[in-house]
Amino acid sequence: MADPKGFMTTPRQEWPRRPVEERVRDWHEVYVPGALLPIVSKQADRCMDCGIPFCHHACPLGNLIPEWNDLVSREDWRAASDRLHATNNFPEFTGRLCPAPCEAGCVLAINQPAVTIKNVECAIADRAWEEGFTSPRPPERLSGRTVAVIGSGPTGLAAAQQLTRAGHTVAVYERDDRLGGLMRYGIPAFKMEKHHLERRLEQMRAEGTKFRPSTAVGQDIGAAELRSRYDAVVVATGATAWRELPVPGRELAGVHQAMEYLPQANRVCEGDLEVSPLSAAGKHVVIVGGGDTGADCLGTAVREGAASVTQLDIYAQPGTERDEDAEPWPTYPKLYRLSAAHEEARDLGTAPAADADARLFAASTLRFGGDAEGRVRRLHLVEVDAGRRPVPGSERTLPADLVLLALGFSGPDRSDGLVDQLGLELEPRGTLARDAGFATNVPGVFAAGDAARGQSLIVWAIAEGRAVAAAVDRYLTGRSRLPAPISPYDRPMTV
Ligand SMILES: Cc1cc2nc3c(=O)[nH]c(=O)nc-3n(C[C@H](O)[C@H](O)[C@H](O)COP(=O)(O)OP(=O)(O)OC[C@H]3O[C@@H](n4cnc5c(N)ncnc54)[C@H](O)[C@@H]3O)c2cc1C
Ligand code: SF4
Repeated sequence: MADPKGFMTTPRQEWPRRPVEERVRDWHEVYVPGALLPIVSKQADRCMDCGIPFCHHACPLGNLIPEWNDLVSREDWRAASDRLHATNNFPEFTGRLCPAPCEAGCVLAINQPAVTIKNVECAIADRAWEEGFTSPRPPERLSGRTVAVIGSGPTGLAAAQQLTRAGHTVAVYERDDRLGGLMRYGIPAFKMEKHHLERRLEQMRAEGTKFRPSTAVGQDIGAAELRSRYDAVVVATGATAWRELPVPGRELAGVHQAMEYLPQANRVCEGDLEVSPLSAAGKHVVIVGGGDTGADCLGTAVREGAASVTQLDIYAQPGTERDEDAEPWPTYPKLYRLSAAHEEARDLGTAPAADADARLFAASTLRFGGDAEGRVRRLHLVEVDAGRRPVPGSERTLPADLVLLALGFSGPDRSDGLVDQLGLELEPRGTLARDAGFATNVPGVFAAGDAARGQSLIVWAIAEGRAVAAAVDRYLTGRSRLPAPISPYDRPMTV
């Protein structure tokens, strides 16, 4: 703690975003390039170096936050990078994408704005790349053991990097043509540009991890065959089986799942397509679902030039202040949050039917109406009370040429046959079953990430990847010095 009075003398200041009018005309990240570094050391100075740092406990990775806050306030970037990478393989991903449960748990947040922990993390990660602190760390000797990791999302990548560095020969199988899971096809470039991903993949290749893209296990290679070829297998296939909205008119053309829509926009940014086949350009867009996936659809539709965009949330509008009785500190509270996409929608007035930003709260979809060609043209909705009962007389209609369903995910997609070919047991809610050591019912096969935990966050996925790597290492060698930040039963800090 370089300045013991920093939290009293310095107000919280976040990485500024680019002007809305400018940023919606491109796909680059929303933040002002270079504007974080001049403010971040002063912000790190606000850290009180708490005796019991709740920030650290609120983070599933157990990030050593007070330590690197102190190092950043002293501008010792190399040591800060070492301490950050000691617990997180990919801090440039979480520094951009994490909703920061650490900040909700920050002791300062009891009666003041929290330390800008996420910004500090991002600044360290970016500086580490600029200064060359991230050179590849290939193992000194090989163990002679082989591991197949199925899925190249944050779980699979973290597991693969840990196991490669421990000396095992690791191949990552990915059914998509490019690597990265939802960070590649799903999360828009304006939240994280893909060169961050490429740089890490390059580092991993240089350390010895092998990648096998465009290879769906269960289809392009039999799952049982893969099991027989490797000493251990990690299933990190994500939870991409989407939830449906079984209302009249669902079959109309123009009603799509968010994850049918978002990857097409990613492909435009990658240069694969000139225009997305599902582009929102000139269309009235309604997004059904109030979560982050819906917000990603919103930002994407705005950039594609939609005529209007409205987002429906079935829940009532949350308050702007933490309810101390219902969700006391240090839990992560449900609050009215203005994401970059909502800020854009508010400033541009994309949703004439909504009050402030693009959101209509407490809104439930009744049915879709179409035209003679079978294309969607309207969405009928009704206001609901806290028990989701329709409020009489509140029915209304929105124009809709493109409807995007962002209702969450129920578990792993089983269409490739991987689960059945291996004979993996499932939990009643559809996720992969595993024991306290991440092991499935099939010897030598481990399960991690969203596929086993259910739909979650990147920070949890990286923690799962690190923890499953420790379990696999122990299975292969009888012991492990790899860190295991979480158990399969750990859950976010909630009431
Ligand atoms: C649109 C969207 C936006 C999100 N935004 C955020 C955010 O801003 N911040 C945040 O923290 N979290 C966010 N999340 C959640 C986060 O992306 C996930 O929790 C995380 O990616 C899960 O990581 P994973 O590695 O377990 O799975 P995934 O990232 O889903 O990766 C699984 C990979 O396995 C591959 N695969 C599946 N089956 C096979 C097979 N049979 N053979 C080979 N490969 C296979 C898939 O193609 C995929 O690449 C978002 C999710 C979505 C859908
Ligand atoms: S809880 Fe907040 S103030 Fe305390 S150590 Fe963590 S970041 Fe610093």
